[in-house]
Amino acid sequence: MKKHNFSAGPCILPAEVFQKASEAILNFNDLGLSLLEISHRSKDFVSVMEEARALVKKLMKLGDDYEVLFLQGGASLQFVMVPFNLMKPGGKAAYLDTGTWAAGAIKEAQKLGTVDIVGSSKEQNYSFIPKNYQIGAEYDYFHCTSNNTIYGTQMKSFPETDTLLVCDMSSDIFSKVLDFSQFDLIYAGAQKNMGPAGTTLVVVKKEILGKTDKNIPSYLNYQLHIDKESMLNTPPVFAIYTSLLTLQYMEKNGGIEAAEKRNEAKAKLLYDEIDRNPLFEGYAVKEDRSLMNVSFKLTDESKKEAFDKAWKEAGINGLNGHRSLGGYRASLYNALPIESVQVLVNVMQSFS
Ligand SMILES: *Cc1c(COP(=O)(O)O)cnc(C)c1O
Repeated sequence: MKKHNFSAGPCILPAEVFQKASEAILNFNDLGLSLLEISHRSKDFVSVMEEARALVKKLMKLGDDYEVLFLQGGASLQFVMVPFNLMKPGGKAAYLDTGTWAAGAIKEAQKLGTVDIVGSSKEQNYSFIPKNYQIGAEYDYFHCTSNNTIYGTQMKSFPETDTLLVCDMSSDIFSKVLDFSQFDLIYAGAQKNMGPAGTTLVVVKKEILGKTDKNIPSYLNYQLHIDKESMLNTPPVFAIYTSLLTLQYMEKNGGIEAAEKRNEAKAKLLYDEIDRNPLFEGYAVKEDRSLMNVSFKLTDESKKEAFDKAWKEAGINGLNGHRSLGGYRASLYNALPIESVQVLVNVMQSFS
């Protein structure tokens, strides 16, 4: 039976990507060797790395003032690398507290310097995105999280800042058109819209680095990773190759512009049903609703068992909400077809 995978991450990737990635494990580029056994310094893998880095810039419409890295350690390591590289000795950074991941980033930055939380929706259990906050030039940088994977809220615009703009885009990277040149540093764990777990995309404006006069540990130093063309040590070759396949797939299918249109149609289909159907209610405030992660719950908890049975019977996977929020969460990442959303909506309709 066909599965409809609404998992929040790791998550669905295009079927064609799974197919090609599995072929490369057996026989990469017709070399008679697996992708997993060749040298990362071989020309076959070096060209994977080069193409992946170039394609990110092309899809994001960024110029040569930016560098693209594929690192390890997940988005979680970026919680550490960002302050290590950008916080000046005795300096301070501004953070927007919009959810569990943002709070994780704040916690790490606090170990390295002063953090001002310029806006927070924590008191309302992160059901909205704080607005109308000020970020002065006294900060070394401002950090925000574009999409809050657990709560299902998403920033629809980004503030103009007099300081560097840093964004964790782990769960909505490549999902909608943005002027990426407004950001100084973007990072994203691959496993939500780009590839398998194991690599993290970092896009950084070169001129912001080297300004802190700090002795940064080599492995945490963006500049060293740039100097070594993202091969400071052995890179996670499978995760990077699979990410390249997704990037190629994305380019072939109309780029970020086309992905955005598909994502808007999928989210509308589901939110319309949540709003129409008296058995369900959404979690996030409407104006901040995420197009990627739709958090909702039953208005009558006693129907839980019956609803869970119904969606499981329809072949739906990964619909349970995050353990910290409960309820349901449908993740509508780029690779999820609208047909899968229609199956879920049908279940919700027939359930009423
Ligand atoms: C999943 C997620 C993370 C954590 O990513 P790891 O790669 O597991 O460290 C961080 N931020 C956001 C917004 C996420 O969705």
